[in-house]
Amino acid sequence: MTETLLEVKNLKKYFPIQKGLLKKTVGHVKAVDNISFSVEAGETVGIVGESGCGKSTTGKTIIRLEDPTSGEIIFKNKDITTADYATLKKLRREMQIVFQDPFSSLNPRYKVGSIIERPMKIHNLYDKKERKDRVLSLLEQCGLDPSSIHKYPHEFSGGQRQRIGIARALALNPSLLVLDEPVSALDVSIQSQIINLLEDLQEEFNLTYLFISHDLSVVRHISDRIIVMYLGQMCEMAETIELFNNPLHPYTQALLSAIPLPDTNRKIERIMLKGDLPSPSNPPAGCPFHTRCPKVMDMCRQEKPQWKDAGKGHFVSCHIYNQ
Ligand code: SF4
Repeated sequence: MTETLLEVKNLKKYFPIQKGLLKKTVGHVKAVDNISFSVEAGETVGIVGESGCGKSTTGKTIIRLEDPTSGEIIFKNKDITTADYATLKKLRREMQIVFQDPFSSLNPRYKVGSIIERPMKIHNLYDKKERKDRVLSLLEQCGLDPSSIHKYPHEFSGGQRQRIGIARALALNPSLLVLDEPVSALDVSIQSQIINLLEDLQEEFNLTYLFISHDLSVVRHISDRIIVMYLGQMCEMAETIELFNNPLHPYTQALLSAIPLPDTNRKIERIMLKGDLPSPSNPPAGCPFHTRCPKVMDMCRQEKPQWKDAGKGHFVSCHIYNQ
């Protein structure tokens, strides 16, 4: 039987837009606008969408690097939406994040051994020898030579630096890892090595992943389920195979049509989206996608579509399926 590790209910994260000497709030950037989903223990949920769709802010808000504007975050059956500093410190042991840029997320002044050991020191875990043993075994588990302990981040390649970032995230033995574009800065050949490593570590440590990426083809390889986001809102959610075989939302269809196909005999017509992503400080009325949707109808400009259960765990927000 599966156990729900994380529940996100009606989560919103708005950033105020302030102007003038008195810093008067004149509006809000609606980075995350009323999203709800849950994640089972051991599952990988991918969150995909264009830059600026709110996927990274979603990840950071869930692990409370950002304070939510409203909504609920339930982790291991505990409401952590407004958890205080002491509770958050304990939570850090359970929830960790791996960032996109492995270079800027590692302090260049510290040796790799200190970087991985630091979270354990902050949380007063283990004695000195135990910490060193753990650093060595984490390096090995992440595919790095244990002698790396004495080197600095600049002495490693991008892929190796991301392995160090992953080892550091695992130092506290967390149950949830938010992987925020963890392979986007890497060469394609290295990307698959890191994805394979993440899959091996998930099995070994029974990890749950929230895998954030702008690239559906990357998300496809690792995710059990995928959430597609647009302008801070969820437009579709389904199991990975179902989403790829039967994409319902016109935005998902456009994203899928842009993935290069290895089989040159198979032809999918590329759907080109018109215009740029609208500003999340002034999202369009009705369906947020209506300004770029190739299937837009009159009602889409006025009415927001409902979140509709399309069966088989497949959900979509589009008027085409609400009729
Ligand atoms: Fe397109 Fe209308 Fe569906 Fe929005 S609701 S995705 S505009 S068809």
